[in-house]
Amino acid sequence: MTRPLRAIVDPGALRHNYALARQLAPRTRMFAVVKANAYGHGVERAVRAMGEDVDGYALLEMDAAVRLRESGYGGRIALLEGLFEPREVQEVLQHRLAIVVHHREQVEMLRGLPAGSAVDVMLKVNTGMNRLGFHPNEFAPVLEALRANAAVGAVTLLTHFAQADDARGVAWQLDVLNRLPGIEGLSRSLANSAALLRYPETHADWARPGIMLYGVSPFAGQTGAELGLRPAMTLESRIIAVRELEPGETVGYGGVYTAKRRARIGVVACGYADGYPRHAPSGTPVLVCGRVVPTVGRVSMDMLCVDVSVVPEAGVGAPVVLWGAGNPVEGVAEAAGTIGYELLCALAPRVPVAEAMAVRERQG
Ligand SMILES: *Cc1c(COP(=O)(O)O)cnc(C)c1O
Repeated sequence: MTRPLRAIVDPGALRHNYALARQLAPRTRMFAVVKANAYGHGVERAVRAMGEDVDGYALLEMDAAVRLRESGYGGRIALLEGLFEPREVQEVLQHRLAIVVHHREQVEMLRGLPAGSAVDVMLKVNTGMNRLGFHPNEFAPVLEALRANAAVGAVTLLTHFAQADDARGVAWQLDVLNRLPGIEGLSRSLANSAALLRYPETHADWARPGIMLYGVSPFAGQTGAELGLRPAMTLESRIIAVRELEPGETVGYGGVYTAKRRARIGVVACGYADGYPRHAPSGTPVLVCGRVVPTVGRVSMDMLCVDVSVVPEAGVGAPVVLWGAGNPVEGVAEAAGTIGYELLCALAPRVPVAEAMAVRERQG
């Protein structure tokens, strides 16, 4: 038998979540964000699921952008961090990629290109995130420089929200945006998942949902399921050993968990080398035979332990869901002091990925 750990990606869930984004913003076009290997789901797989219907894809890895274009996708493909060095303009021209321009050096990189190249530029303005983007005072001269460059085609105004997921919201950043001079007539791209879900006034021309497409909530204390989303990834494994503990015995490295009473412990084939967070404390939820049970002791490289005292049928081979269907990744992340985004993106390359469709077909 092969090691039982695998990630199951459900193309139907990806399609459902994309359709929900569309429904929330029916007049807005969508960049499906597929950076970081589609948040761990696999770019090719995510694109195959969402398909040509998607108005555009956004990511920041050049090699993945080129592969996507070469696969025959004809829509807009945006590089969210733009060019890192001048020679990349060749790929941008050859593969008709849209590029974010967020600092002066990137404006310079576009000089001297053939007139009529129609480079699709997304001009990023810093409205308060203070990460990437031009200061509002630089906006007018930069827009002018871009418009004076005959190689530049359409210009889209872009900004990113820092707190669309929490109480501060987006109004303070929209105020900055709306005071920019000369933005009438520019197409706009503003909303991430949180803004798309919560603030219709941010929908604008092009939205950029990421995490919601994978079925995960961008909001603390709320799961994707509560927002009508379906988890696209389920990380599943099996119990590979079971043992009885006497009161006072400890589990795993460092002996950080001590049994208070007799307990049955299941050893699960999944550890931090698979992307499961090592800092997940005892008590992190795991689904065994359909029941939620707590992890016990430290997560090790290839294994973790769960208390299955209340699941007598959980023997060797019992099915385990680390996160996904029946065990929301948001809950696992919260227990581990992180967010679902990080867990999905950290899925390790050694974990085989299968598609839910194929599994269902095998089962008839
Ligand atoms: C990652 C990213 C997004 C998507 O954000 P989610 O919170 O996953 O929806 C949108 N825009 C930019 C610029 C990003 O970097």
